[in-house]
Amino acid sequence: MHLALMLAQRAVAEGEVPVGALLVLDNAVIGEGWNRPIGAHDATAHAEIQALRDAGQRLGNYRLPGTTLYVTLEPCVMCAGAIIHARVDRVIYGAPDPKAGACGSVFELLPSNSRFNHRTDCRGGILAEDCAEILRAFFRARR
Ligand SMILES: [Zn+2]
Repeated sequence: MHLALMLAQRAVAEGEVPVGALLVLDNAVIGEGWNRPIGAHDATAHAEIQALRDAGQRLGNYRLPGTTLYVTLEPCVMCAGAIIHARVDRVIYGAPDPKAGACGSVFELLPSNSRFNHRTDCRGGILAEDCAEILRAFFRARR
């Protein structure tokens, strides 16, 4: 999660809302991402999607079984869907997102239920205060 926070700092440097994500397989980082919808002119360029794309390119496979995704903010509906499609085993997130979170805050796509053919587990609240503070500091500085 500390590395995810460092990736979130890259978003800050680019003027993007600071969210960072990385994908781990067998204790190795295989994908990294940070939020960059503004710079990429792409509404789907959330940190989680960027990390999934990075890992998919590296492994040459969109399916990423056995992986754990670490992200500083609770994933949204779009990212939760992509995470399930990518067959990610587990999501560990930091701060809850009371406006768009899809791991129970607003919607509950994760942990995925039996209607999906892939089971993705989910746990939040890891370094939640640090993950929330980087967002608060970003929005404070913009006001
Ligand atoms: Zn998202």
